[in-house]
Amino acid sequence: MVLLSHAVVGAAIGVAVKNSLWSFLIGILSHHLMDSFPHIDYGSQLIKESGPRFLGQKPKLKPDSPRKFDETFWKILFVDFSVAWTVFLWIFYRLPENLWLSVFFGALGALLPDVIAFYPPFVKAATRKYKWAAFIAEIHSVFHWALPIKSLFWGFFWQIAFTASALGYIARFIR
Ligand SMILES: [Zn+2]
Repeated sequence: MVLLSHAVVGAAIGVAVKNSLWSFLIGILSHHLMDSFPHIDYGSQLIKESGPRFLGQKPKLKPDSPRKFDETFWKILFVDFSVAWTVFLWIFYRLPENLWLSVFFGALGALLPDVIAFYPPFVKAATRKYKWAAFIAEIHSVFHWALPIKSLFWGFFWQIAFTASALGYIARFIR
């Protein structure tokens, strides 16, 4: 799922749990739970047929798809990151200070699996070197249900539902 959805759900966990360590751990858990709902993701234009590994299926990729990140990928990431950054400025500005730390760690935990599964060279080195990083990357691939780009309705349904619910919950605590 997009960075924004994961980050705001992590923030909502931080608001609810009010403890940095637990927010971080539950944040990691929330990432995989959310990813297991069908969604359009960064790699969706590469997918021909989707099927999550946790249901015993294997997504089929388009034979002609490039395996590296193209310009569109970076553009979407930039927009996604900018929106998430703006939303977080609002969250921190409006939430009482005693919640800042747990919100930060909740969001960090919720984003971590994607950072590890993202596979830039340094992460690839980390997953080779550290068993825990390789384990998180494997879990991520099993509990991940990305749809092809044409599945617009279900592609966005859960992402919007998660984001809206999390923001609605956080809004109850703002000053
Ligand atoms: Zn993910």
